[in-house]
Amino acid sequence: MSTASTHPPRLAVIGGGPAGLMAAEVARAAGVEVDLFEGKGSVGRKFLIAGKGGLNLTHGEPRPGFDRRYRERQFEVADWLDEFDADALREWARGLGIETYIGTSGRVFPIDRKAAPLLRGWVRRLREAGVRFHVQHRWIGWTGDGALRFTTPDGEVTVRADAVVLALGGGSWPQLGSDGAWQPWLAERGVDVAPLLPSNCGFDIGWSEHFASRHAGAPLKPVIAHWRDDAGVEHALQGECVATATGIEGSLVYALSAPLRDAIARDGEATLHLDLAPGRELARLQADLSKPRAGRSLSEHLRRQAGITGVKAALLYETLDKAQLADPATLAQAIKRLPLELKRARPLAEAISSAGGVRLEALDDRSMLEALPGIFVAGEMLDWEAPTGGYLLTACFAGGRRAGMGAVDWLSRRSP
Ligand SMILES: Cc1cc2nc3c(=O)[nH]c(=O)nc-3n(C[C@H](O)[C@H](O)[C@H](O)COP(=O)(O)OP(=O)(O)OC[C@H]3O[C@@H](n4cnc5c(N)ncnc54)[C@H](O)[C@@H]3O)c2cc1C
Repeated sequence: MSTASTHPPRLAVIGGGPAGLMAAEVARAAGVEVDLFEGKGSVGRKFLIAGKGGLNLTHGEPRPGFDRRYRERQFEVADWLDEFDADALREWARGLGIETYIGTSGRVFPIDRKAAPLLRGWVRRLREAGVRFHVQHRWIGWTGDGALRFTTPDGEVTVRADAVVLALGGGSWPQLGSDGAWQPWLAERGVDVAPLLPSNCGFDIGWSEHFASRHAGAPLKPVIAHWRDDAGVEHALQGECVATATGIEGSLVYALSAPLRDAIARDGEATLHLDLAPGRELARLQADLSKPRAGRSLSEHLRRQAGITGVKAALLYETLDKAQLADPATLAQAIKRLPLELKRARPLAEAISSAGGVRLEALDDRSMLEALPGIFVAGEMLDWEAPTGGYLLTACFAGGRRAGMGAVDWLSRRSP
């Protein structure tokens, strides 16, 4: 692709993550000329990093439970999933020679748990299909007369396209290419954009120096998290989390990050209660802790009578005062329901994903921007969120497909 090309692409896809690549694939398969622009030197960097954790591609949970993971946006995302759901995604991966399996948690992974072979095979197939890749092309908005502007190592170039799919990602891990810089460019053109917020993120609590220096990085497992939603309904979820230097993170906390983040925004802070001894009954625990210590230290007493050691014991010392620690009833209560005051979400740059972005109300049912005809949007830059577990990638693939097909449909109606 070059400056003021005499052969303008029919479709410019901007952003080479899963959403953009999927949009490119379906549009090309429908016979559309596709040029894919990527700001970084290679596509799929975040997808590759996702592979470091085993590449949790999707989830085996049946619908409509699957859809409910997208919270307020479940109906819109379900519409995309109707055309490309978890089974379709697994079948698509099989088409690239990547077999998948459902793990014990229901999460779906490639057999080798790697992202690189899938991405390599996919990019090869896209190139063979005729998708033209333009890396190191960072989109920076539009010229006055509507051409796309890119910065490249050779200077700025402008490109005209009949339709555009924007799949620029959210704002987490910006070093991988998705930095959310697009927000004002779209907002200035009348697109309703909700500010990007951290999702699947850790939270700050503010440990003492003593606790942080000894226990940062220590896993808390198993624990049950209890929290109250904005309707006052109590929820409980068992899982694992990790103490950090400033607070807490990990899969259990990520799963609750949306309601916790929203509660902090609303109330200034949120309280998460942790059951440090799942499976132990409060009354029994209190009875055991009431047994004489016979000269043993409190740590040893906690270990023997409650099975509480390491970071779990340290959390009790961190949270309770001397008198509370000495009282078996208070101690047992704290073990079963330790209150952690969450002060703030960790910054977006550290989060696994983003909430916020282009509001779905700004799109028509083909994922085209109502304010900017011919411009389609897909992936994490849209305002939906979901917990980890493969739900993020699934919606990116399905939404990318929707936007690509939408562009095909739109172009076909415009063609003579
Ligand atoms: C550490 C980590 C682990 C994860 N693990 C999982 C997992 O196991 N399962 C799961 O479902 N999800 C996981 N995710 C989330 C998942 O990777 C993302 O939701 C997904 O990659 C988003 O896809 P996308 O195509 O919308 O955006 P991205 O993958 O972010 O791709 C957007 C692309 O657009 C490019 N771009 C951005 N701005 C511009 C511009 N101005 N010009 C040109 N190009 C631009 C970027 O460089 C990038 O390549 C993980 C995320 C992280 C950070």
